[in-house]
Amino acid sequence: MMNIDITFPLCVQTLSPTETEEVGAALANAMMTDKTLPRFVALYGDLGVGKTAFTRGFASVLSPESLVRSPTFTLVNEYRNKATKTSLFHFDMYRIDSEDDLYSMGFDDYPDRGICIAEWCEKIPYALPLHYLRVTITKNNADTPDSREIRIERI
Ligand code: ADP
Ligand code: MG
Repeated sequence: MMNIDITFPLCVQTLSPTETEEVGAALANAMMTDKTLPRFVALYGDLGVGKTAFTRGFASVLSPESLVRSPTFTLVNEYRNKATKTSLFHFDMYRIDSEDDLYSMGFDDYPDRGICIAEWCEKIPYALPLHYLRVTITKNNADTPDSREIRIERI
């Protein structure tokens, strides 16, 4: 287990998908503890870097029974926590090419309905909320293929 103290900006290295999930879980726990933190998590990073893995850990705290998969075709998955009657919304912005696409999916309405976490926020720079948590994942060591750098900033 990693020992992660969430402060901003945060920069951590992970060496496995499980460790990346643990960072996601730690961020969710911090958001549960500190309700003044933004309720929108914007994920940045290339295909296969670990955005969905991070989201899996994040959701394990907020909606423990949910099966997390990239919402590539549906654009958004809702994970409902039956115990707390709250929803987590998981977006994949990869196929979003215009504000019309976002409008079609009703994007603007989601932040009022629950915590949001969005993959591929590179695609929607004009649509981000005023305040959000920016998570950037990169492959940081070519010699260690499973190594990732995860940077978390409070915007
Ligand atoms: P993305 O959603 O960014 O496209 P995924 O989370 O779906 O990425 O996939 C990440 C892939 O990288 C998985 O195959 C996972 O096993 C692998 N992987 C290897 N090391 C790591 C790590 N440190 N963190 C996250 N994923 C890792
Ligand atoms: Mg993904």
